[in-house]
Amino acid sequence: MRDHGDIVIVGGGVIGLTIARALALRGVRDVCLVERGRLGTEASWAAAGMLLPQVEADAADEFFNLACQSRDLYPAFAAALREETGIDVELDTTGTLYLALTEHDHEEIEKRYEWQTQAGLAVERLSGAEARQLEPCISDATLGALRFPKDIQVENRRLLSALANSVTKLGVDIATQTTVDSITIEGIRVSGVQTSRGAISCPKVVIAAGTWSSFIKSAPLPAIEPIRGQMICLEAKPQLTRHVIYSPRGYIVPRQDGRLLAGSTSEHAGFAKCVTAGGITTILRNALDISPAIADLPVVDTWAGLRPRAADGLPVIGPCGEIDGLFCATGHYRNGILLAPLTGELISKAIVSSQR
Ligand SMILES: Cc1cc2nc3c(=O)[nH]c(=O)nc-3n(C[C@H](O)[C@H](O)[C@H](O)COP(=O)(O)OP(=O)(O)OC[C@H]3O[C@@H](n4cnc5c(N)ncnc54)[C@H](O)[C@@H]3O)c2cc1C
Repeated sequence: MRDHGDIVIVGGGVIGLTIARALALRGVRDVCLVERGRLGTEASWAAAGMLLPQVEADAADEFFNLACQSRDLYPAFAAALREETGIDVELDTTGTLYLALTEHDHEEIEKRYEWQTQAGLAVERLSGAEARQLEPCISDATLGALRFPKDIQVENRRLLSALANSVTKLGVDIATQTTVDSITIEGIRVSGVQTSRGAISCPKVVIAAGTWSSFIKSAPLPAIEPIRGQMICLEAKPQLTRHVIYSPRGYIVPRQDGRLLAGSTSEHAGFAKCVTAGGITTILRNALDISPAIADLPVVDTWAGLRPRAADGLPVIGPCGEIDGLFCATGHYRNGILLAPLTGELISKAIVSSQR
């Protein structure tokens, strides 16, 4: 492993990989990405790949605007990755249906429709019958639905493969099976990192270690906690739905190869990354409420991942505290796949402008 570099990125999930690629594309040389295990095998691998800023938004706040901005970067991001690597990340632009299955859901979707149409956002209101005509698999109990044509999905595991392939081609140095234990600070400046395989001296460090970010010693970060999410994978051949279908309690996501993902839970369970009987029961109940047809599908896989969450639920992106040369990109919670392209742009821009 090298012992010096210009920039060390800690963490090889979607966030660390996207930042590494963005830096390399801006012409920054000597970027080293350090990953504790294998690239892209934690939260970014466990995710559903939904890019849905509008579906759950109650107002056009700053977070909403950033999330929409990042979603809208995806078509060019996916096309560029395909060009660079030959890997199709299966960006599916069919859109998302948000179902109202109870009177309370119906009131909520009415409010969402009102503010989003007034804000000039793309959203369509459907009756229960119209929604069923569009996706015949949905429950007869559907009272109405919103269709969000711009809220789309990406195959996040293919995205991780494409990013890993891209950064390798762009010359990023990758050290896997290597844990960054601490940041070395001299005065108010970063001077390197201490890893399980020795020290690397460098003037800039980016912490993109997901839910483990707070364990890195000497990094003045807000606390990041793990929120467990469990997932079930069913097999639907032919596919049950073309849209991502969402309800206030769960979702189903169709993949091109016949997998149908059903999610998820949101649990404070520490770092126990396991699938539980209770979790599976909840996910299946909510998925069956969306589409009773799921009852006949085989379950082919289950897994769990840990979403990185800061106390206010918002991502922590940018220069880190008072330490020169230290940058953070963590706390992406439920939206790390969605926010990856924008995070890559923001961090690489901040680093390049700090070098001028
Ligand atoms: C079930 C589930 C469904 C989700 N669905 C969606 C969705 O539909 N859309 C969406 O946008 N988001 C979704 N998310 C959230 C999304 O997965 C996360 O926000 C995102 O993956 C965070 O990316 P990351 O790179 O920060 O973290 P991770 O992918 O967890 O990567 C962090 C990496 O850092 C490494 N690391 C940690 N500590 C160290 C260290 N000290 N030294 C070296 N390496 C270290 C880890 O090994 C890991 O590889 C979902 C999450 C879950 C769990």
